[in-house]
Amino acid sequence: MSEEPANLADMVRARAKSRGNATAFEFEGRSTSFVEFDIKTNRVANALIALGIAPGERIAYLGKNSDIYFELLLGAIKAKVVMAPVNWRLAGPEVAFIVADCKAPVLFVGPELVTLVRNIKPQLPDLRYVIATEGGAPESLDYTAWRDAQNGDDPKIPIDRKDIAIQLYTSGTTGKPKGAMLSHANFFNLVQTGNEAEKPEWNKWTTDDVSLVAMPIFHIGGSGWGVMGLYHGAKGVIAREFDPTKVLDFFEQSGITKLFMVPAAMQFVVRQPRAREVDFAKLKYMLYGASPIPAALLKECIEVFKCGFVQMYGMTETTGTIVALPPEDHVEGLERMRSAGKALPGVELAIVDPNGKRLPPGEVGEIATRSGSNMAGYWNLPEATARALDADGWLRTGDAGYMDSDGYLYIHDRIKDMIISGGENIYPAEVESAICDHPDVAEVAVIGVPDDKWGEAVKAIVVMKQGKKAAASDIINFTRERIAGFKTPKTVDFIEALPRNASGKILRRHLRDPYWAGKDRQVN
Ligand code: ATP
Ligand code: MG
Repeated sequence: MSEEPANLADMVRARAKSRGNATAFEFEGRSTSFVEFDIKTNRVANALIALGIAPGERIAYLGKNSDIYFELLLGAIKAKVVMAPVNWRLAGPEVAFIVADCKAPVLFVGPELVTLVRNIKPQLPDLRYVIATEGGAPESLDYTAWRDAQNGDDPKIPIDRKDIAIQLYTSGTTGKPKGAMLSHANFFNLVQTGNEAEKPEWNKWTTDDVSLVAMPIFHIGGSGWGVMGLYHGAKGVIAREFDPTKVLDFFEQSGITKLFMVPAAMQFVVRQPRAREVDFAKLKYMLYGASPIPAALLKECIEVFKCGFVQMYGMTETTGTIVALPPEDHVEGLERMRSAGKALPGVELAIVDPNGKRLPPGEVGEIATRSGSNMAGYWNLPEATARALDADGWLRTGDAGYMDSDGYLYIHDRIKDMIISGGENIYPAEVESAICDHPDVAEVAVIGVPDDKWGEAVKAIVVMKQGKKAAASDIINFTRERIAGFKTPKTVDFIEALPRNASGKILRRHLRDPYWAGKDRQVN
């Protein structure tokens, strides 16, 4: 892209000029051109200003994916107001926690969430306006009327690259969600602007690209992905929510060329019987990440989708991807297929011990990273920010892993999930992968439970395949033949399904908590 915009508001203006009446977003039969998007975001900015929302204030969005969300995000940006999208799968008190945390005076609500908002509103003293994006709430302002009451002139508010563009809450896998403050500069780093020569092939876009925004916008994999397409002047097709049959429809009807999905979503799509009949000729790249991918699932996806695959590793705090495994490393039998890939250009990676000392290749420690994508900090959490970000700009990810001598990163687990038994560090993923080889096991999560003698003892929580039964002793014996005795589970529980969050991540703390009630678990 020729001229580099100074910030995301300028990006919208620049695309209106360069892409004009081409389609920016398509949502449920409604198309918005780049010019229309520019005007609509001006109206949103003017409407927020008219409500008296000041620069730097947070506003919240609780709803499913929609073109309106992107209008609001970029409209808020033009008014220098910060959007905080909220996970609509959360329960009322969890939503209330986030809306209260960011002190939002305005909450945009999708039709499905109107009742929830009505219930939590009394607990939100800062909330002055509820605006229903698609109607359905008689006591709220109507979105279209609210937006269109304003003129479409550009409010021309000066914006700095360091200003916060969005406040995205982390997934809450390891604790309460934290509001990661991401700046305009963070986004430009994600897009890798001004770096065209160094950009890997899969990360280059053309204006003919059609991207599917299939993941929820309350995660970076939805919001970041949508902004990425917009930056490149490509068409973004927005899926209201993830539905595997509709994803196949989008491939057939909209000519999708690239998309991002989490492994749990890929599994749903690839297991649709129709998946093997769909023509994926237009699909160039499937980017995936956010949680580990089972080798068998990746193999199945490669067979069915027949496109380039790119694994991504990153987090909300790094504005998404910082490490990627490119298509050329997706070769069966290659050790690298188990890796999350190499640092993107401009991203530094290090593996460190608890004191922050760098560890050599092959040794497992905490993954640390530095790049222009690292967040400005967590909203209202100075201590957590200080723990995560050091004075030199290095971010401690909370993930454990190692790097090989070629710079490929292998992710083990969360540091918080690591089990310390008799002074030995045990990574659940290694134990889980041994247990998963048992022919009757569908899924497993391994946790540490309190143990008087060893501090913690390894426990496996197993989901059996349909109609299969194995005794706990079978699984223990099976595992003992494959991994060291101290890593072998002492006990096995059976469960119907593992608890997961909206991104499909296993919530090990939910499995662990009952065993630790009233006890203190030491974590590094
Ligand atoms: P919280 O920080 O609130 O506990 P979370 O860490 O799950 O939640 P996100 O920022 O959405 O919130 O997720 C980032 C995490 O996802 C990473 O720290 C890592 O543990 C995991 N992850 C991301 N990409 C991959 C990948 N390719 N393989 C394995 N795990 C991944
Ligand atoms: Mg995290």
